[in-house]
Amino acid sequence: MTEANEKYKGEAILQKSYTTDYLQKTKKKNMGEIPKYHVRDSHAPIVRPEVFDLVQDELRKRRNGGKTRTCSHAFSSRIVCGECAGQFGQKTWRTALGGERTSRVIWQCNEKYRTKGNINCRTPHLTDQQIEHAFIVAFNQVLGEKSRYIADYAPIIAMLTDTGALEIEAETLKEKHEELYTLVKNCIEEKARQGCDPALDEKHNKLIERFESIKTRLDEISGEIEARSVKRTKIQTFLADIAAHGEILAAFDETLWRRTVERVIVYRESDVRVEFRDGRQIKVSVVGK
Ligand SMILES: [Zn+2]
Repeated sequence: MTEANEKYKGEAILQKSYTTDYLQKTKKKNMGEIPKYHVRDSHAPIVRPEVFDLVQDELRKRRNGGKTRTCSHAFSSRIVCGECAGQFGQKTWRTALGGERTSRVIWQCNEKYRTKGNINCRTPHLTDQQIEHAFIVAFNQVLGEKSRYIADYAPIIAMLTDTGALEIEAETLKEKHEELYTLVKNCIEEKARQGCDPALDEKHNKLIERFESIKTRLDEISGEIEARSVKRTKIQTFLADIAAHGEILAAFDETLWRRTVERVIVYRESDVRVEFRDGRQIKVSVVGK
């Protein structure tokens, strides 16, 4: 599925191209100079809108330097240094004690020894067992407060679902935008008729400024609506995952980890924060584990 194909989501974007010169009637592909209008339900969606938004969110993260998560180790790209915000990577420590070779696999901030001779951050390294322990403790804490979570989230989900005010604002702005479009067009025609006229130039520039500021606000609104949809789906998926687990989690479950953990932030062995998909962080100690 291509990320640019809005038809998957059941929406169409109008104004994919626009007229650059009202007199010559030339057309140009709209690269963001004027707003593209999303039209919901213009055809039957292939993918549910909220799932589409999640995919967009994931693709955006990946473009911003995140790594693909599906085939890599369950912990890679998810353990973050609390001091420098760098990612933790897997390292193998080999030692030869009394002729016997042993190796240990640990997770450590990738930025720690980046500059030679300098330790960039003092966050500890963690073993697989410590990370698994942090997850089990944090997940069980969430399970213990499951009913409170579900109750707390009900109004939040309702708020995230209600985009009515934003949509009304967008409608009003689109109308204004169309009016301005006509005014700009008339102004250009007038300029063509009258030739050089500073007053007309000024009028033209003011109109363009208003046109641009409406475009900016329309972009903000569509970004906000999409962000709410992503947030809501993350919370709902997370609630469904914890609802499906009636019992205490006794052992590490990789599938559950992949589904529910956004990231783990490491400060100290006594302060490891497990951040779940819904954005909530649980502080866990992994000292001696
Ligand atoms: Zn670091």
